[in-house]
Amino acid sequence: MEGKIVKVAGPLVVAEGMSGSKMYDVVRVSEKKLIGEIIELKGDLASIQVYEDTGGVGPGEPVYPTFEPLCVELGPGLVESIYDGIQRPLDILKEKTGDNIARGISLPGLDREKLWKFVPVKKKGDKVVGGDVIGEVKETVLVTHRIMVPPDVSGEIIEIREGEFKVEDVVCKIRDRDRDREITMIQKWWVRQPRPYKEKLPPDIPMCTGQRVIDAFFPVAKGGTACVPGPFGSGKTVIQHQISEWADADIILFVGCGERGNEMTDVLIEFPRLKDPKSGEPLMKRTVLIANTSDMPVAAREASVYTGITIAEYFRDMGYSVALQADSTSRWAEAMREISGRLEEMPGEEGYPAYLGTRVAEFYERAGRVKCLGSDNREGALTVIGSVSPPGGDLADPVVQATLRVVKVFWSLEAKLAFARHFPAISWLTSYSLYSDSTRKWVEKEIAKEFPDMVKDAMILLEKEKELQEIVRLVGVEAISEEDKLILEVTRSIREDFLHQNAFHEVDTYTSASKQYKMLKLILYFYECAKEALKRDVSVEQLSKLTVLEQIAKAKFIPEDKFESSAAEIEKGIVSEIEGLK
Ligand code: ADP
Repeated sequence: MEGKIVKVAGPLVVAEGMSGSKMYDVVRVSEKKLIGEIIELKGDLASIQVYEDTGGVGPGEPVYPTFEPLCVELGPGLVESIYDGIQRPLDILKEKTGDNIARGISLPGLDREKLWKFVPVKKKGDKVVGGDVIGEVKETVLVTHRIMVPPDVSGEIIEIREGEFKVEDVVCKIRDRDRDREITMIQKWWVRQPRPYKEKLPPDIPMCTGQRVIDAFFPVAKGGTACVPGPFGSGKTVIQHQISEWADADIILFVGCGERGNEMTDVLIEFPRLKDPKSGEPLMKRTVLIANTSDMPVAAREASVYTGITIAEYFRDMGYSVALQADSTSRWAEAMREISGRLEEMPGEEGYPAYLGTRVAEFYERAGRVKCLGSDNREGALTVIGSVSPPGGDLADPVVQATLRVVKVFWSLEAKLAFARHFPAISWLTSYSLYSDSTRKWVEKEIAKEFPDMVKDAMILLEKEKELQEIVRLVGVEAISEEDKLILEVTRSIREDFLHQNAFHEVDTYTSASKQYKMLKLILYFYECAKEALKRDVSVEQLSKLTVLEQIAKAKFIPEDKFESSAAEIEKGIVSEIEGLK
């Protein structure tokens, strides 16, 4: 059974004779067997978005239904892979077809020949339910891959084998009511269908990143969602790398979605160079990369986003903390706009389809900290950080607005700050995090009771600074009181000594939450003592010359293990130096 093409419009192909197919079924288009997905069905007419270049394809050519939706393969071999949007391993594609990927190539996402050592954690006679871990495979030095019972299977294990197996070999048999189910190490999952879990948990644990402006001021929760715009040169790539390396996540998913060719090359070349700081191993040992090459048509961006999040959910289901970064979701939205235009749908704002908001929301809603399926109550988290690249950096852009309606954190990268060499260029005035409240209890318990209030105080001072700077600009610094001058001195310190962080400095690149607390405490302690001194008619000019301020500025370069004692010294210095002033 096959359909026939009646129209080709860029990545969109319309075919007749498709009545047996369903929405979102995968089809192969023309003799070239291009991979496409049905996105609209009207009677026996199907509109197909094709994930490969449709050049040279014309009416009259056949369309072959597969009667299956777009799936990803989940199992050992995912980690360290670099895939395109439809989970074809890029290295093998390149081996087969050279630099310019030939069309119509089907490749399995997981290597069929590779042997993996499967070590059972359950035994014959055990009762299991969907999601239960039955065995483990050491996938890389950094990742233990947990082989789980598929969500729809439960029963008694009647056979389980230890040894070296290929992903398609049967490792376990489960008697599910009156039927025997053979379990292999591979699961297939429909990319548009969120993977099931038992229960969503509140986002009350922060995902620490070691980046002070993020963790202290604008934290993202484990299982939370964040959005970051990235004007060119504002340090977006550096932030993505820092999060990948340092965030408190076991698995990193990076989806490079339809960026320009050179940016994608950056990802492909630079990512594999990153190191996992804790083990010294290459970061790829716990990373999955999805990269759309620039010669793939726009529709493939859509596939990469879904493929990425499904793989991320799978690792979450194992009980891991997963961080997914998608760069850039604006390009995905542009693809939706193009396809929608070709479908001649009624356009919404700026030509984006009316369902833009829904699609964006559905994507971010797949984030979360969850109680996983299975009987052992393990928890997993999937944190999603999407970057947006609005034209001209305009935040009123519909994609940005649709994103901000669903995400709870906004890290506002500003070109202006980057230009002034303030890195990370995350604006403390326009960024926000709605997790500050939900993670408060955790911070109070794990770091320090007063830390959240200190951050709030610092924030209030920074807001005040903005007003004061305006006044100083208009009427000069003489016009403001000594108290206000002190505020300017202290906020300078908050910005330069705390918020500014050099990703390339051996020590400064990462700051633990407890060091962050102690650093901020020094600055605010200085402020308290200096305020008292002002009452004794000490001037801000005198205060600003104290050598202890230099020590506060250099505190960030003190290694974690020496920090406690050094901070105590600096604190003493603050007291004695200020007391020494007349
Ligand atoms: P983008 O990806 O937004 O174009 P990059 O991430 O490549 O920008 O950053 C541009 C430059 O800014 C980097 O090469 C680096 O010199 C500097 N930079 C960005 N972030 C930091 C940081 N946290 N610490 C030090 N330098 C930074």
